[in-house]
This record gives sequence, C-alpha cells and structure tokens, in this order.
Amino acid sequence: MLDARFFRRWLTASTALVDREADRLTELDSAIGDADHGSNLQRGFAAVSAALEEEAPGTPGAVLVLAGRTLVSSVGGASGPLYGTLLRRAGKALGDAPEVTPAQLGDALRAGVAAVAQLGGARPGDKTMLDALEPAVAALEDTLDSFEAARDAAEKGAQATIVLQAHKGRASYLGERSIGHQDPGAASSALLIAALADAAR
Ligand code: ADP
Ligand code: MG
Repeated sequence: MLDARFFRRWLTASTALVDREADRLTELDSAIGDADHGSNLQRGFAAVSAALEEEAPGTPGAVLVLAGRTLVSSVGGASGPLYGTLLRRAGKALGDAPEVTPAQLGDALRAGVAAVAQLGGARPGDKTMLDALEPAVAALEDTLDSFEAARDAAEKGAQATIVLQAHKGRASYLGERSIGHQDPGAASSALLIAALADAAR
C-alpha cells in the first residue's frame, strides 16, 4: 500500500531529479522552444516541496492536489498548467483514502493523463509530455506494481520523441525543424516517473 509519505517521497525525489537535470531540460527547450523548461520546473518543484513541508497533507490525494495546485500557480509556461492538471486530477481520483494500491495509482494517473490530453489537445505521437506519460501509465496498468517498468517505458517514450515532428506547443511552430530533438516535456515526464521508482525503493 502507498501512503501519504510515499507520495511526499515521490515529489521530493522529483524535485531532486528536476534540480539535477534542469540544465539538460533547458538545453532541450533551447533547441525547439524558448529555453525555460528546466528553470520553469525547478521553480515549480521547489515551490511544491516547500508547500508540502508547510502543509504536510495527510492523504495521497491531498498530497497530489496540493502539488498540482502549486505547479499551476508557480510555473508560467505551458508545462505548469499541464503538470498541475496531471497531479490534481490524479489526486482527485484518489479521493481521501489514507492508503492506495499501485493499481489505484495507475488508474488515477490514467485519469490525469486523459485530463492533460483534454487540456492541451495533444495525442501520443504529437511530440509532447504525453509521449512519455502514456507508455508509463500503460506499463503500470500491465504490470500492476512495477514502477521500474513504468520508468523504462517513459524513458523509451521520451527518446522516441527525437524522430517525431511536434504538432502541439511552441515546438510545433518549427514544423519539420522540430525533428531530431528530444521533447523537453517528454524528458521531464520521464524524470517524474523515474522519481516514482526512486520513491518505491
Ligand atoms: P513553454 O512551451 O510555455 O515555454 P515549457 O517550456 O515549460 O513551456 O514546457 C514545454 C513542454 O510542454 C513541451 O516540451 C511539451 O512536452 C509540453 N507541452 C506544450 N504544449 C503541450 C500540449 N498542448 N499538450 C501536451 N504537452 C504540451
Ligand atoms: Mg519553454
């Protein structure tokens, strides 16, 4: 079972990975965007970690809703509302249960990914964060509790965005010139799923 502490560990691990990889994320965004993805998420997750410490929410759902709300209010770029929606929607799906199963987390993330797709109008293959999130959630659904499988699927999905042309977000303005670069949001999504595997260790 996964309790509020597990979810706080997940977000703390996400903050650490985003910090460590911020320069790489910004470099990816400088190739096909506006070079702010690393700093956007660094600011957002620092605010998430601070909010979690201050409010210490006691259920998995409340942890995710607070994290999502904090990302929306602290990240200016497109990724703030999108990641905020992912976490808020997943948190709402978990309700106020004190502990949840990995399968329930998989269902909640499925709902979160659907909400991201609805908000941004993107589908897998459009070279966005969905290209890492969607396979990660599918892997979780298949294996039920293998966060390592989800991490590997997300990383593979992120790498696979290199050959894609962007159809959503800033990178889509480049048309065919977006081909040959990894999508920064897919790269950061892979980090968030890797943090999930870290939290489960
Ligand atoms: P901005 O593009 O506003 O500068 P960021 O650089 O923080 O915001 O985030 C860019 C990332 O957001 C992209 O790499 C992509 O993965 C994701 N993204 C942008 N638009 C969409 C969308 N409509 N649907 C899903 N993801 C998107
Ligand atoms: Mg950007």
